[in-house]
Amino acid sequence: MVDTQISNRDIREPNVIQVMKIIPRDRFVLEKHRALAFSDQALPIGENQTISQPYVVAFMTQALKLKPSDKVLEVGTGSGYQTAVLASIAKSVYTIEVIQPLLDRAWSVLSSLNFSNIHIKCSDGRLGWKEHAPFDKIIVTAASEDIPPSLLDQLADNGKMIIPIGQQHWSQDLVLISRQGKRIIKEKLLPVRFVPLVKETPKKHKKR
Ligand code: SAH
Repeated sequence: MVDTQISNRDIREPNVIQVMKIIPRDRFVLEKHRALAFSDQALPIGENQTISQPYVVAFMTQALKLKPSDKVLEVGTGSGYQTAVLASIAKSVYTIEVIQPLLDRAWSVLSSLNFSNIHIKCSDGRLGWKEHAPFDKIIVTAASEDIPPSLLDQLADNGKMIIPIGQQHWSQDLVLISRQGKRIIKEKLLPVRFVPLVKETPKKHKKR
């Protein structure tokens, strides 16, 4: 997967390549899609959501220029695969998912891989995680029409955020946002297609 989809495209950051070789993507996909776990595509993970294409995970991680000392906020845990990639490079990852059953599944896989620097919350990620702000890096893995103001507020000075921006269900652009004091710099990097960042309240487990 890494040789044919990551290293031979524009992913050059050695720590990203290294980590993508180690994290077992097959553990994060549904059993019925396991044969496709290392293919060049997004895959359904239930609840109408998807695990991102490996290349997009690598591209977003590389764009953030992660350092071992970074505290990262991730919005849209989904399968937990991107979370694992981030947590293998950064100091800590705070990840928020709005659909509880997805978060439960992601957490069981991440725990089985012995991560101890990941913190999870079932909530609307557009509001960020104020108690742990500011974050050196913020990654949003669902498409938004605008930059959620709370996320921008919670981005540290000299911090970077990557977020797909655009009309939902149509193509969006991955936008890299850098904060330098009061200056906010925005750069469009790559056309992408993500599921929408929802504005609903968290969907909890139904009691049976
Ligand atoms: N990085 C994930 C991508 C998951 S898809 C992976 O590779 O597996 C995007 C995820 O964002 C979905 O799980 C969806 O439920 C979640 N999401 C959508 N809107 C959200 C919101 N407002 N807050 C938190 N998570 C949200």
